Amino acid sequence: MNYSEIEIVLQEVPGEISICFSITGCGVQCKGCHSSFLWNKHNGTKLTEEVYKSILTKYNGFASCVLFMGGEWCLNELTNYFKIAKNLGFKTCLYTGETEIPKKLKVELTYLKTGPWVESLGGLNSKKTNQKFIEVQTNQILNHLFLKN
Ligand code: SF4
Repeated sequence: MNYSEIEIVLQEVPGEISICFSITGCGVQCKGCHSSFLWNKHNGTKLTEEVYKSILTKYNGFASCVLFMGGEWCLNELTNYFKIAKNLGFKTCLYTGETEIPKKLKVELTYLKTGPWVESLGGLNSKKTNQKFIEVQTNQILNHLFLKN
């Protein structure tokens, strides 16, 4: 699994400070994708378990959530990385362009964003979006948290 970027983000998971890993190899290939650099799995840098754990350790106590932008195509590796995050006390979130993900992965998540990018419908801050931001345990859709009044 390769990453293109690791950053701290505040908007993607409402109420949480998230360590965000952007993973390369996205096969969804949405028209108008904001970052087609992420389509090729050979782009970016290998995310080893050692690097991953050191980043989580560095931000533990400051960040509250571990967020992956993609990576579900490396099912075992990503599932393991979410388990590690949970064991360290982080909440977990996956942003995927798919509409469903394997149960094995889903059970490791606090939050899940599903759905491809469709320009005419907009993202989570659009009332007519096709995308869903879900609290996994309750299966509640929390899109309203992204809407401005
Ligand atoms: S899911 Fe995201 S990264 Fe993948 S093609 Fe769609 S917009 Fe791009």
